[in-house]
Amino acid sequence: MQTDFIQKCEEFAKNNFSLSELRPAQREVLAQIYEKRFVIATLPTGAGKTLLYTLPALFFENEPVLVISPLISLMRDQERRMSEASIPCVIFTSEQSEEERKESWNKLKSGEAKIIFASPERFVLPSFINAISKINLGMAVVDEAHCVVAWGHNFRPEYSEIGKILTKLQPPRILAITATAGRNSRQDIIKRVFPENIQVTEYISKPLAENIFVESHRVFSIEEQWNKLVEILKDSNSQKILVYFQSRILCEDSVRKLRKLKIHSVAYHAGLPKLERKSVEQYAHDTTQKTVICATTAFGMGIDVSGIRLVVVYGFPSNIEEFFQMLGRGGRSGEPSKGLLLWTGSDPIKREFQFKSSFPEPSLFLELSALFIRFMPTHFGESCFVNKNDLLEVIKTKKEQDKLKKLENIIAGLRICNALEDTRTGDTYYIIKVAAHLTFIDILAGLPEGITKRKKILDGLTSLVEKCWLSLRGGQCVVSLKKLMDASEMNVTSCEQVFLHYNEQKIINFAKIDNEQAKQGVILKNGYAHLQKELPRYISARSHFHASLRELDKLSTSTTCRLSASFEFFAPRHIQGASKNIWRCMQCDICIRKRTE
Ligand SMILES: [Zn+2]
Repeated sequence: MQTDFIQKCEEFAKNNFSLSELRPAQREVLAQIYEKRFVIATLPTGAGKTLLYTLPALFFENEPVLVISPLISLMRDQERRMSEASIPCVIFTSEQSEEERKESWNKLKSGEAKIIFASPERFVLPSFINAISKINLGMAVVDEAHCVVAWGHNFRPEYSEIGKILTKLQPPRILAITATAGRNSRQDIIKRVFPENIQVTEYISKPLAENIFVESHRVFSIEEQWNKLVEILKDSNSQKILVYFQSRILCEDSVRKLRKLKIHSVAYHAGLPKLERKSVEQYAHDTTQKTVICATTAFGMGIDVSGIRLVVVYGFPSNIEEFFQMLGRGGRSGEPSKGLLLWTGSDPIKREFQFKSSFPEPSLFLELSALFIRFMPTHFGESCFVNKNDLLEVIKTKKEQDKLKKLENIIAGLRICNALEDTRTGDTYYIIKVAAHLTFIDILAGLPEGITKRKKILDGLTSLVEKCWLSLRGGQCVVSLKKLMDASEMNVTSCEQVFLHYNEQKIINFAKIDNEQAKQGVILKNGYAHLQKELPRYISARSHFHASLRELDKLSTSTTCRLSASFEFFAPRHIQGASKNIWRCMQCDICIRKRTE
């Protein structure tokens, strides 16, 4: 039966996705899905992850597959590919219109749709969970599952809710898919995505696709580093070359200097306006002229530029996971691609220093956070908005310019410990404070019957805050307007009318923070006592980052195979050490040189 199933899958893939055969990794994961196992699959970019849920979806009868995907652009891209292969699917995001959403639900209820794509923001809404629980799912898929890792730079708070909701929904199969993720990151994903006490099968392939070749080149000065880069760019016969720089400034400067040398280049970083970034992406995708894309790590998830056959990493990235993700941007259609680390002797020292300043010792971190006690809420479940300038004032440093850096580091640590929420997205927020003699439950109980607008909004708010907040007397919380509108399915005018009503009655104190003000501050959550309890998260994130940075040291200075050590870093615990010095990767410059000698 299992082989029948895989054969059917392969047949379909051949006919509709122009593949000659399934890859071994795909076969293995598909077999596990068939057996109704709970699977986490770690596959490098370009390994054909989409097929892992598309193919089973076709053969589950009346049981659609739900896919939670972090980026709208990714979903739209998948939708396009599905329709090319005539696979009916629906999409649910926060950005679509009421009309579109209704159409999606109708298509789903009629049993037509095979695949349901949902953004995490939509997935966590009670109304969505309620509706989806009435449908028999064949499988739930969490795509780009590394977004669940609180210390990763792709972290999405809504992703941490997924596990709890899937426990309620009880789909017969769950598949978490991620690209490059070290052992610790994978453990974190398992903990947060899958229901508790469930046997999860790990499928891990090499962290780097087999068509990517790795080289490390050490230089002795910054001038030499630049000259070497220019030489490499001139010599390369790759149509598109991607160069990763450590900062936006370096990125911009390099473009200017390369243009002077008549080397055609474009810049890509998060400092560019969204539209400009989009047009650079489009240009990089379409161009037939030899082009050097000078980028920062912003050139990452959700960007699909094929034809890059050389990726140069200029200076040490922050760790081995980041390095492999960068290299994975090359060779996306399976063509051979080279990844080159171009570094100077001071890079490792600089990185170590940066690590220590951005991740202070745990005891020091607690001490630093204690400076903010007066701004923090008193109880678990509460949250409050604080202006960054107020936080800066209590930080002591010898040099004034170090203050901001220090603040950013404390903020990063607080975020890992779930004691802080970002306001960087530029949302509008409401500060809501219940009158001192009341709890939120009292307010809910006092709702007159039949008034649905108030009820809808209060229910929406309930779904966004920690449950214990509801029974706090005089509790305070800060919620995003966008999320509240989404959760209550009410517009901004209705939301404000309701709160103004309660404001007049002196039941709720309500204030608004507009998006410009919001960007100037942060939301602190849960109080200092909670932070102390969450410290282990900080400690494990810190040690993970350090280990991952050490792997980069090993790779760059190795005199034997460069990749065997780091492949072990990604391997599951039980085979750790087993491959020591025995094998050659045949993907690194040292192995390849040895073969030709
Ligand atoms: Zn090797």
